[in-house]
Amino acid sequence: MNAPYWLEELDGLFDSEMIKRKETYVKKMSQDYYWYSPVLRAKLAHYSGDCVLAPKSEEELINIITFAAKRKIPIVTRGGGTGNYGQIIPLRGGIVLDTRELNKIVEIESGQGTFEAGVKLGTIEKVLKETDQELRFFPSTFMKSTIAGFIAGGTGGIGSIAYGTLWDEGNILALTVLTMEETPRKINVKTKEELAKYIHSYGISGIILEATIALAKKVNWVDFLIQFDELEQALLFSDVVAHDTTIQKRLVSVCEAPLSTAFHPIKTFTDKRKASVLLQIAPEHQNDVEKKAACYGGDCSAAFSRFIKQNKLRMSDFSWNHVTLWWLKLHPNDTYLQGRFDPKHYVTQVNQLKERYQDEVLIHFEWIRAGGKVVPSSQPVIRFTTVERLQEIMVSFQEFGIKVSNPHTFLLEEGGKDEWMDQICLAKKENDPNHLLNPGKTHRTAHSPLAGETHV
Ligand code: FAD
Repeated sequence: MNAPYWLEELDGLFDSEMIKRKETYVKKMSQDYYWYSPVLRAKLAHYSGDCVLAPKSEEELINIITFAAKRKIPIVTRGGGTGNYGQIIPLRGGIVLDTRELNKIVEIESGQGTFEAGVKLGTIEKVLKETDQELRFFPSTFMKSTIAGFIAGGTGGIGSIAYGTLWDEGNILALTVLTMEETPRKINVKTKEELAKYIHSYGISGIILEATIALAKKVNWVDFLIQFDELEQALLFSDVVAHDTTIQKRLVSVCEAPLSTAFHPIKTFTDKRKASVLLQIAPEHQNDVEKKAACYGGDCSAAFSRFIKQNKLRMSDFSWNHVTLWWLKLHPNDTYLQGRFDPKHYVTQVNQLKERYQDEVLIHFEWIRAGGKVVPSSQPVIRFTTVERLQEIMVSFQEFGIKVSNPHTFLLEEGGKDEWMDQICLAKKENDPNHLLNPGKTHRTAHSPLAGETHV
């Protein structure tokens, strides 16, 4: 394919350091972890942007937006590129906007901090230690992922059992957003309704320049790996810990056997016949948790927490979607689903799934707080065979009352986190009148080049 005419114009207008045109690099920067899904893998692998531009300042970013808006060039904004749904894959070419050099820590106060879009969450966590604070919650990819990438592409993570998700009031306090117009407007948003126009929006409604988030007081978390003979015991124990408001915690994660045996760095602590519960608990509640685990037949290894600290390991590496990552390293053809089980009937739902699919569906729960309620969110591993079978499993989830968030589509409205879709589309209409921001990621505002093809 011919290179677009505007590529040559870049040299006269922008600092050469900012422009990256090498085909292999542009292709690499045009991809995320979409390959978790065999469906997206088959459909999205060949897409790429035309160049990468990496601004270092707000002024440079505004110049890029003006340049692109004048010539009607698509922009896909990119953070760490760790999204799972092809969120940063440019479906219509154009500019891949690498934000990682917009990395100023604007201000840190007691209880809140303001950061430029491209600051990595891992950097924030490190800097916060000096102020005796920590992130309220973060994705398991926090070392690579950026604050704006998390806000525009993620949901929750380690800490969500205490603080909820991105949508829960009081977590994101303010955003500064640039519009996709020849003269970009700078919008400051603070209310729940306004913020929702940009949360999990795949960057289609505006480019986040800065984010102000609430922070938590630092805790010296104690790490637990507790093993159970039966999945049901592990689930019931995790439920008790998740719901006990007297126990301060940051992680309650459950894996059916043999998922945890894929966690290579901690393999001496895992057993392929046992279900496991991973916990992060405040030190003063350690004894309480050990007693509760014993009541459910759980086996706590006293050496585990020490091992994690001595080897500088992170519990985040063995929870959330890192569980799938470890499993895919051993079984590259497998995949996963995302489902919200019913908090009152989840044991029945798990049993129904196990009865119908046995080890074709391997259960992985993350307990979180969402909208004030403690609920089991889940990312079960699927031993993939065909797209038709995957579809059949998703239909069974729905039949058993498990709400599916489909990770096998790049369309925002089909991913199951679409509660605020109307507001996102409204902001897109106002901020991106020519549909240039991440085009093709919704049917609601413009036609997708892959309409009807890519979702299961
Ligand atoms: P990117 O992938 O670069 O971008 C994500 C989306 O945000 C894209 O649509 C992009 O266009 C948009 N975007 C980026 N920057 C901006 C900006 N400045 N303005 C507007 N839009 C922008 N997610 C979770 O929520 N919780 C988890 O625990 C979790 N665990 C994961 C584990 C693994 C192993 C993997 C592969 C993924 C996981 N994810 C998880 C998904 C993903 O890692 C996170 O959502 C992450 O925070 C995305 O950040 P990023 O900087 O990599 O974003």
